[in-house]
Amino acid sequence: MVAKESTTDVLIIGAGPAGLMTATWLARAGIPFRIIDKRSAKIFAGQADGLECRTLEVFRSFGIDGPWNESNHMQEVCFWEPDGKGGLFRSARIPDTVKGISRFQQCVLHQGRIESFFLDKISSSSQGKAEVERGILPLSIDIDEKLAASDSEDVYPVTVVLKNLDEEEAQPDQYGGKIANGLFRQFQGDQDKYYSSEGNSAANTEILRAKYVVGCDGAHSWVRKQLGIEMEGESTDYVWGVLDAVPLTNFPDIRHRCAIHSAEHGSIMVIPREHGVVRFYIQLQETPRDPDSKTESEKEAGAEATTKGRVDRSRITPEFILGAAQKIFEPYTIDVRDIRWYTAYQIGQRVSPSWHKNNRVFIAGDACHTHSPKAGQGMNTSMMDTYNLGWKLAWVCKGLADPKILETYEDERRQNAYDLINFDHKLSRLFSGKPHLPGQDDDGVSLEEFRKVFEKGKAFASGCIIDYNPSCLEIKPAEFGKKDEFGDLKYVNPLASKITIGTRFDSAQVLSQSEATPHHLADAMPSDGRFRIVYFAGDFKNNAALTEKMNVLGEYLSSESSFIRKYTPSGAKIDSLIEVLTVHASPRTSVEWFEFPQSLRPKDDCQREDYWKIFVDDDSHHNGHGHAYEKYGIDPSVGAFVVVRPDGYVATVAPLGKEGIEQIAKYFDGFVKVPTKPAEKVAEVDMYGLAE
Ligand code: FAD
Repeated sequence: MVAKESTTDVLIIGAGPAGLMTATWLARAGIPFRIIDKRSAKIFAGQADGLECRTLEVFRSFGIDGPWNESNHMQEVCFWEPDGKGGLFRSARIPDTVKGISRFQQCVLHQGRIESFFLDKISSSSQGKAEVERGILPLSIDIDEKLAASDSEDVYPVTVVLKNLDEEEAQPDQYGGKIANGLFRQFQGDQDKYYSSEGNSAANTEILRAKYVVGCDGAHSWVRKQLGIEMEGESTDYVWGVLDAVPLTNFPDIRHRCAIHSAEHGSIMVIPREHGVVRFYIQLQETPRDPDSKTESEKEAGAEATTKGRVDRSRITPEFILGAAQKIFEPYTIDVRDIRWYTAYQIGQRVSPSWHKNNRVFIAGDACHTHSPKAGQGMNTSMMDTYNLGWKLAWVCKGLADPKILETYEDERRQNAYDLINFDHKLSRLFSGKPHLPGQDDDGVSLEEFRKVFEKGKAFASGCIIDYNPSCLEIKPAEFGKKDEFGDLKYVNPLASKITIGTRFDSAQVLSQSEATPHHLADAMPSDGRFRIVYFAGDFKNNAALTEKMNVLGEYLSSESSFIRKYTPSGAKIDSLIEVLTVHASPRTSVEWFEFPQSLRPKDDCQREDYWKIFVDDDSHHNGHGHAYEKYGIDPSVGAFVVVRPDGYVATVAPLGKEGIEQIAKYFDGFVKVPTKPAEKVAEVDMYGLAE
């Protein structure tokens, strides 16, 4: 029997948050892909739970609102410290999310539920054609380097041999089966068992050729190892337990997020969750160790292995973790009911120095960075990695963009991973270290410093201030570079003085010109693979120069020389790759719909007018005024163009009129390919607007 052979544009290995985000993009863009996972079932409880503001913005852009609706929205963080008399006191309260940073606030929901929203989206976007293939393991991966260098979108340089696992292989031992736990996955050591199994045959293997492969296979990534990439960084001896349960306690802040430092017994992070559950991150000062992994001094002393050797997973139980929590909470009491999940982990901060091979095989998520979970970053950062990569793969697979745009993935995301590791390094050590006690001369950590690092880190942790480096996708002219209050170089064009080029385009309320309904501008830019040119037309009704600029733009967009025409494949809707959205600042009622040039409100094949492309920054009847121009720092008597990438990042800001149009055309000329084929019909809200 000969093994089955097949091809696909993109193979995704691993169906955790990073893999599912990749699949969601590809399903939306109608790219043929496969997504495999070695485990026979998705996770149902536990693992990560924190959702940051930027992640929620991205979910909304995909029309995934379930996590926000079902989750617990966290409002306040309380800090508790030793009072020097054997007790604890609340030393501070701060808002959980930086005020005004996003229209969403940090919230919590378990990872299994979040993943199920993705699965539904992938299914609906692909009209039921794509789903996670479980119990499948990659056995080998080979890159044909010659083919890999080709610019053609029709070559398949990566060959992966896949194996269908039997039921036993796909369901690993969980170390204590009664309550779901993550002990198997949280520590290294079991990965090779998969590869030692015999019985590979043509009947259970498949040879798959792919244009691109994305390794989203977690912290112990097989793909990363096949590429010969070693993680860089360090691990600590601190071991932390995690427990999800309903608490019975007299501690007053149990429904607030709390950071509790005890004098002698370590620290706890309390995270109030959905359905009355609370997650506890508990420092385990004494951890059961594998007796065979004693340190030299323990061997010499004939002592039990207690502090440094390998963790003995089989002896970590919920009772053991709860015991550690009870000591930290003293003098408050705590017991738990309805234990949903538990695990233990060792803190380590590591980053992969390289995130791809030949720009054909990529790694993402935990495969590229590991750190402590207390800043709520693992799942969020992993999803944001592939949110960055997914649309780029879609553009390249469709032959719309030069493959060089894929090079920006590592540069943009690795810098963020380093920033995250630095933040996590500081926070973890301040959280795990013994605190300095009031009135005593000890060398404990300063809890004031801990609070400051925590507070400063909140803006970063929200994911909303990430700033991507200059590249073919990010135009940052040197003259706009200025250091901010932290000494970081930021690029701001004075035409939009509150927009930092390279950061995500924040949302503001505007009104639809046609209906007077209030909208969040970001909701007019769903994640469907399109670039947007937001045309801030200014108060054009009261300014002849701005009216003239509107006419110039209207004529340009309807002319044959328009770059939008040049790059849109024949047969595709004119707004299917690059969409122009107008936001003007004249009084809404002073303007009639038909005053706007036709090219700003393009008609479809059936001559239907598009009423959802023109907005106004004006007062609404029921929702107040969004003051969008003020929020973006745009002068209504001047206006500006803001170019926004398919992942919502500001690519460039340009002046209105001919000069700005030329600047934007040059931007797209830098990476978009002139299409050689007509558009094909693809899935859901595809990039060509051709969905049935
Ligand atoms: P993962 O979620 O690890 O997904 C990787 C997927 O790849 C898995 O489904 C796996 O089965 C599959 N896979 C692995 N190898 C292969 C292979 N060779 N072939 C095919 N499939 C493969 N974060 C927090 O913030 N708080 C927490 O309390 C917390 N607890 C965690 C507990 C555990 C047990 C683990 C593993 C992670 C935890 N995390 C936690 C981290 C968080 O879950 C991750 O940061 C996040 O899931 C990363 O997403 P990912 O998609 O990169 O990787």
